[in-house]
Amino acid sequence: MSAPLKFRPHHFLCALGFEGKGYSSGFIANMSGIVDGQLRGPQGDETVIEVVRDADAICAPCPQRIGAGCAKQDRITALDDAHADALRLTGGDRLTWGEAQARIKEHVTPEVMERICGGCGWLEQGMCRRALARLRADGSD
Ligand code: SF4
Repeated sequence: MSAPLKFRPHHFLCALGFEGKGYSSGFIANMSGIVDGQLRGPQGDETVIEVVRDADAICAPCPQRIGAGCAKQDRITALDDAHADALRLTGGDRLTWGEAQARIKEHVTPEVMERICGGCGWLEQGMCRRALARLRADGSD
């Protein structure tokens, strides 16, 4: 089995809502490879993801990454804490992308998203709200 993908808690919802935008061309190319090339691929739901509490697979080429940390560390830690709490995630947990989506569907209502993503600059662009609405409208469970 290949090594698990590593996601910090708030990147599960970022991956769900990704629409090709990001902090730099390198960041976008990397995130597109993970999200479009892997998670949204034919076997994407079976992808195993390990929860980490520092820089992860999405952070890797980010211009704001400082080693395993982030230039916006306080804000990112607050986002991670809120998302970990909402999605019942702890560092070291492993779950598939399919399980992660089921967990988002179960625990993240639109109201919860407004709270746990509060202050994130991407929220007002609407793609995360739209992705959550699509997930919650999917009657496949
Ligand atoms: S802004 Fe910080 S948390 Fe977000 S991707 Fe970049 S390094 Fe990671």
